[in-house]
Amino acid sequence: MENRFKINIVIPCFNEQEVLAESYKRFTKVLSSADFDYSLIMINDGSRDETFDILRSIAHNDKKVQVISFSRNFGHQNAVSAGLHNADGDAVVVIDADLQDPPEVIPNMVKLWRESGANMVYAVRESRKGESFVKLITAKMYYRILNMLSETRFPVDTGDFRLIDRQMLDTFKRFNEKHKYLRGLFSWMGYKQVPFYYKRDERFAGETKYSFTKMIKLASVGIFGFSKKPLKLAISMGSLCILFAFAIIIWMIWLNVCHPEKIVPGWSSIVFIVLFLGGIQLFTIGILGEYVGNIFDETKNRPEYIIQDKLNFED
Ligand code: UDP
Ligand code: MG
Repeated sequence: MENRFKINIVIPCFNEQEVLAESYKRFTKVLSSADFDYSLIMINDGSRDETFDILRSIAHNDKKVQVISFSRNFGHQNAVSAGLHNADGDAVVVIDADLQDPPEVIPNMVKLWRESGANMVYAVRESRKGESFVKLITAKMYYRILNMLSETRFPVDTGDFRLIDRQMLDTFKRFNEKHKYLRGLFSWMGYKQVPFYYKRDERFAGETKYSFTKMIKLASVGIFGFSKKPLKLAISMGSLCILFAFAIIIWMIWLNVCHPEKIVPGWSSIVFIVLFLGGIQLFTIGILGEYVGNIFDETKNRPEYIIQDKLNFED
């Protein structure tokens, strides 16, 4: 008999009590008839609803469901990271709990992985249902700006839904930065990566767990983690200001010489200059602050997440 390989499905869950039963049903239905072994690694990211109780009872009845429970909410990226660290299969599929990424495509992703000999299969959204116009536009703009700013090339319209093989997982374990922008890290790693096109559905139930602040945080981890160009912004804006100031001085001298009668005590121009310089200074200090804050967090060397409970793991 041919050796069956094993896929871990990593599913981060934060306040997902409305979807879990249905998700578990659909995942199990698809995977139990697939031609590979699997386990579901479900991470309870410090949910404040019934999520953990539901996961516990599912895990109690089904040993293929492994549960990791955090001591508090550490965020989606850290939850996925914990899943990747605890995976023991030949490859991992990262997917959301809310069934926006249909579990039914997983066997096809696995098939593409086997046939292409790639290290990673990343899912590209051909269409996105039930997403607000603002979210679609900002996401589009964001990926394009990120690509402009960074030396790493990022595939657009790609989230964290992807298949990662053992070789890349082992590489990933060597990354110990605390603020992880996973899709960025995986692009940065190289290896052979192939796209897989699919249609993204609406969330099965419940609200989005990505609040506006969480989205801004993820976006800034991406930009400040993968580009040093914002730091250089200070230099170019500073130079512009100096040029501007020189132009004003020359204009003043010219007025003094040619039209002294036109000189009025113009405090409006002073206010303008003060505001302008002040704005640029605050902006660039803010950019410095982002990087210094990152350095601060990395040097504290605290763990990325804290696991309180683990179910159906061997150790
Ligand atoms: N999630 C998480 N921790 C968080 C926020 C979200 O583990 O702090 C999970 C959530 O349960 C879901 C996935 O991350 O499985 C994606 O979140 P969501 O579907 O709410 O984001 P959206 O699809 O709206 O961008
Ligand atoms: Mg979702």
